[in-house]
Amino acid sequence: RRKKIVQECEKLMDKPEQIRNIAIAAHVDHGKTTLSDNLLAGAGMISDETAGQQLAMDTKEDEQERGITIDAANVSMTHEWNDKNHLINLIDTPGHVDFGGDVTRAMRAVDGALVVVDAVEGAMPQTETVVRQALREGVKPALFINKVDRLINELQEGPKEMQERLLDVIADVNELIRGMTQDYEDRDWTVSVEDGTVAFGSALYKWGVSAPSMAETGVGFSEVIEMERNDQRKELHEQSPLSDVVLDMVAEHFPNPLEAQPRRIPTIWRGDDESELARQMREVDDDGDVVFMATDISMDPHAGEIATGRVFSGTIRKGQELYVSGTAGKNRVQSVGVFMGGEREELDRGVPAGNIAAVTGLRDAIAGSTVSSVEMTPFESIEHISEPVITKSVEATRMDDLPKLIQTLQQVAKEDPTIRVEINEDTGEHLISGQGELHLEVITQRIQKNQGIPVNTGEPIVVYREAPTQESREVEGVSPNRHNKFYITVEPLSEDIVDAIKLGDVAMDMPELERREALQELGMDKDTSQDVEHMFGTNILIDDTKGIQHLNETMELVIEGMEEALEDGPLAGEPVQGALLRLHDARLHEDTIHRGPAQVIPAVREAVHRSLIDGQVKLLEPIQDVRIDVPSEYMGSASGEIQGRRGRVDDMYQEGDLMVIEGIAPVEEMIGFSSDIRSATEGRASWNTENAGFRVLADNLQTEKITEIRERKGMKLELPPSVDYI
Ligand code: GDP
Repeated sequence: RRKKIVQECEKLMDKPEQIRNIAIAAHVDHGKTTLSDNLLAGAGMISDETAGQQLAMDTKEDEQERGITIDAANVSMTHEWNDKNHLINLIDTPGHVDFGGDVTRAMRAVDGALVVVDAVEGAMPQTETVVRQALREGVKPALFINKVDRLINELQEGPKEMQERLLDVIADVNELIRGMTQDYEDRDWTVSVEDGTVAFGSALYKWGVSAPSMAETGVGFSEVIEMERNDQRKELHEQSPLSDVVLDMVAEHFPNPLEAQPRRIPTIWRGDDESELARQMREVDDDGDVVFMATDISMDPHAGEIATGRVFSGTIRKGQELYVSGTAGKNRVQSVGVFMGGEREELDRGVPAGNIAAVTGLRDAIAGSTVSSVEMTPFESIEHISEPVITKSVEATRMDDLPKLIQTLQQVAKEDPTIRVEINEDTGEHLISGQGELHLEVITQRIQKNQGIPVNTGEPIVVYREAPTQESREVEGVSPNRHNKFYITVEPLSEDIVDAIKLGDVAMDMPELERREALQELGMDKDTSQDVEHMFGTNILIDDTKGIQHLNETMELVIEGMEEALEDGPLAGEPVQGALLRLHDARLHEDTIHRGPAQVIPAVREAVHRSLIDGQVKLLEPIQDVRIDVPSEYMGSASGEIQGRRGRVDDMYQEGDLMVIEGIAPVEEMIGFSSDIRSATEGRASWNTENAGFRVLADNLQTEKITEIRERKGMKLELPPSVDYI
């Protein structure tokens, strides 16, 4: 049976009109896994009875244990619609906000996103986040409202109440879609029951309905309610199996690669759109140059690294030597294949444009790499949504395990680029940074259990930032030999510009004119926007000098000195963000020998630090949006949990029979929130946090926190006397 499906998939690979690349996006617990199992069972990949129990997509042990999907796993299946068989490639996405990076990468590979919303809970913050991520990538949404059985059986709602509730969910989702697509003529993407872009049902009881299915079977809304109420679920399933309803919607309403790529390429690639390569990608040319984007890297004990991703042009085959973006050499493709029910199936043939492929042999690829047969501008970086906010140290319990630990950590960083791994050179500890407490907990679990390396971990530590708060005076930096001088000022970048850089809307690798215009729209003056010389994270260097001899050859060292200064800010050695550095003037020695790295780097580093202090640099801390859903009798204790954590409650309102509390709180104070809120509400609250950037730490806490960090890092405790403003 499996073999037959593989053969069928192979046949369909060459017919892009019959391919749909899709992802399921949902808030945790809204039913993504149960729905995926329905689809797999419908396609004959797992038996009908085991659907819902097998958790076919949760392949890693820790995922099954926690019951949440952490890594994106992938599966291909076939589905007949409109008298034609279709190849459906389903990319799984993680259901927890801490794994935002994975969601965005999965969206890069697909053209349609099935948004799953729990009918009782409605659209949640994570629903909003994933829908945004899909729309930002140019991926078309459709909606499945799940757990409708609960409205009927638990809440005992009648047809009218139910209809209202479902329309509310649809309206919420549409508001989001409208906001993100109104500027595009080709994206009339709001969903509706009449159009067939909304389906609803019960993934648990395996039935679903949509306008087309109701027309076909003659079973209307009120019959469905009657049958569910009378426990005729089996009959319901037989009349309108959920997998058919959903896969019909997918086949009918999601674009095939031929329709999708002309729209998606300009959104995700900044190369020359008049080039031959652009044409090949737009037209899904399987004879063209090979262009493959790796969206996920996983480890296989036998095959090594497996890069999963989308083939945008050409045909990827065994034996090809391909470039990997960001690295110098080429890698040789060892095998190509597809994923069938969580398992990889190697193919003898190549995988053509428009498909999802699983490729081995791409040793240098990381999640997000562009892999191609010709040198090309890589796809836009995807990692702009999330920055690490929390760090933990890991140490092998046994010294013998150290090499294995290092190797595993390197692997972890390859698989998940939102993780950062560093070595603290003073203590020899390894530090891993990630999106939140759970994110790091899962990673360390994986090292311990999957790799069998016992580790000791430190307490989670919050990552801070340093940022100037006003414009500095001009500062002179002098090299040790006194022959080179640099004149620098620093000023704060606006929050809008910092956000745009984080989102990738302003970047060094975009065409200069486009960058200039983007910066001017964000309020930067024209002259400044024309002199951008370099960007370091969210910091920008402006070269205001004119015709200084030798400066061109020295610029690389100037940039290096600035980079060092910005990586370790002057207050507590934390990264600097949102600084605009201006190089006004420089004096350079005639002779290269006297303006080498040992002269230029310290001069520039010093000058940047002193100008930051003159610009009243302050410590910033990461904050999170917090949402708590709780029965009204616990409202007081729940909001107290936010307020007691240096947090702020912004809104409280009723939604269904629960109260919703929305607010913000510092990440540092949110450590341990999970168990505190549980005891404060006797386990009745459900809650959610999402990183919301960095905020200047209150003045009365600056000195204390800076001292604490300096102490932890083994820096000397006194700050320079010029730091008198905090
Ligand atoms: P995920 O976190 O989005 O993957 O959600 P799961 O598929 O793991 O489902 C979360 C919980 O909701 C599980 O206990 C499921 O059995 C349950 N569930 C899923 N779909 C339905 C449904 O249609 N009706 C009901 N009553 N429960 C459901």
